[in-house]
Amino acid sequence: MLEFSGIPRPERLIDENGRRIDGRRPDELRPIKMEVGVLDKSDGSAYIEFGGTKVIAAVFGPREAHPRHLALPDRAILNCRYHMTSFSVEERKPLGMTRREIELSKVIREALETVTFLEEFPRAAIDVYVEVIQADGGTRTAGLTAASLALADAGIPMADLIAATAVGKVDGHLVLDLCDLEDKYGEADMPVAMAPRFNSIVMLQLNGRMAIDEFRRALALAQKGINEIYKLQREVLKRKFSELSPEEV
Ligand code: ADP
Repeated sequence: MLEFSGIPRPERLIDENGRRIDGRRPDELRPIKMEVGVLDKSDGSAYIEFGGTKVIAAVFGPREAHPRHLALPDRAILNCRYHMTSFSVEERKPLGMTRREIELSKVIREALETVTFLEEFPRAAIDVYVEVIQADGGTRTAGLTAASLALADAGIPMADLIAATAVGKVDGHLVLDLCDLEDKYGEADMPVAMAPRFNSIVMLQLNGRMAIDEFRRALALAQKGINEIYKLQREVLKRKFSELSPEEV
């Protein structure tokens, strides 16, 4: 049996009472913390925790695109960097960008592009940084959720926020918001991101196998989690903007 991060597979991922290794029910999200405007030096920022997964996102721009030849005449370029800090995982992650991080940067950018009104800022660039401080499963979905909050915090016009979570199959049960061990030792892992206002899926990946009926139920489970996350996102933004004085808005 393969061991990940030195942690062997628990004998069971779901116990006789239907509880998961961290005590959650199958359809339960991890405890969530969310905050916007956590950094002073960027135009927008957000911090998110989903259990042990901790992510910070920062946005710069819109500002003039450099080098100039990369600028587009009809819209802004969205640059996105997803990165895991060396101390975010048990075995120090190598410095620099791995292939996985380059791929996830692209996946996150493509999802954000679906909701951001880039055409309002021709010749400009918007930079989005997603920094994983601690990884315990679901960093791409936490990163996307945080990045959309940071864009909104920067005042960038958007058609909707993006809310995301992963669903999966462990010991034959469909579960919401997988932690690292469930991700590693489960049968399937399906990150899903949505623009909930339009009921539109902006990112969906599937690692592992599910029957078509399981896929449908998993998608409905993801949607339930996404609606809960979306509600928190809107609350946190409303709180931030209602606290601002009229001069700051
Ligand atoms: P996601 O974080 O979006 O679920 P993956 O499915 O690729 O993305 O990774 C699952 C989990 O595996 C991560 O959240 C993290 O806990 C762990 N992980 C990813 N990369 C590494 C790494 N280089 N070293 C140790 N653990 C890692």
